[in-house]
Amino acid sequence: VAYVSRKPEWLRSEVHLGQEYRSLKHLVQDLNLVTVCEEAGCPNIYECWKDGTATFMINGERCTRACGFCLVDTSKPLPLDPTEPRHVAEAVSVLGLNFAVVTAVARDDLSDGGAQAFAETIRQIRELNRGCSIEVLIPDFKGDHGALETVLQARPDVLNHNLETVLRLHRAVRPSANYVRSLTVLARAKDFGLTTKSGLIVGMGESIAELKSVMRDIRSVGVDILTVGQYLRPTRHHLPVSRYYHPDEFRELRDYAMSLGFRYVEASPLARSSYHARQGSDAAAGA
Ligand code: SF4
Ligand code: SF4
Repeated sequence: VAYVSRKPEWLRSEVHLGQEYRSLKHLVQDLNLVTVCEEAGCPNIYECWKDGTATFMINGERCTRACGFCLVDTSKPLPLDPTEPRHVAEAVSVLGLNFAVVTAVARDDLSDGGAQAFAETIRQIRELNRGCSIEVLIPDFKGDHGALETVLQARPDVLNHNLETVLRLHRAVRPSANYVRSLTVLARAKDFGLTTKSGLIVGMGESIAELKSVMRDIRSVGVDILTVGQYLRPTRHHLPVSRYYHPDEFRELRDYAMSLGFRYVEASPLARSSYHARQGSDAAAGA
């Protein structure tokens, strides 16, 4: 595979940050919280925050896994902060969000993988923020059914678990995860009666045929919402970009996914797992 390093012009646009964004940023800093929007340097931050959506990361900033595309620090995690669920709920309230996304690092060191903290965060957000919808982007909890059940019982509005890549590249991209195990998480959440969602990152060496195959697999377990975005290499220590997909190719992938029966598909160069999360949730709920 030939690798490319120069970004195409559709990924080089300047991001202009307004006053509204800056005041929200100060609020998040004052509450001492971690948003993925900031940590990942997400290019959509201004649009999302202005639109009342933000993504919080719970269970610490250190991950027990080391996925080949991910910027999150891999090291021995610290004990959980029992006040974190409340602080996230307060931040949702202060920011006036109508759609909160909660994700976490993988905590394979904990007996429940951090599931209880997800459930508690959902409860606390609901308690303080009537009318705010909640999407959780969860790890696979190493296939532990009890841990998954803990999150499902808290009934998030959307249950998201990303496949990230095609079957062949799993070992390189998600070395501690497992393709079938991830599909099983999504299948179980659908059986439970939740709106489900998954996501793919393209540009890591997959073929279009392989991408279509993983889309069919995701749809086969009843997933409602799909996101597809371009991989951008965070540092030189991460997997290289195999190629940049043209916006037209994203449109073609979106059309293909819609033809499979997904209720909402977000596919574009800058699409991230939580980009236009509220729109996806609304579309799934209204269908
Ligand atoms: Fe935050 Fe997700 Fe929006 Fe990026 S796409 S700014 S991570 S909510
Ligand atoms: Fe990043 Fe999640 Fe993989 Fe941890 S499990 S390295 S946070 S993608």
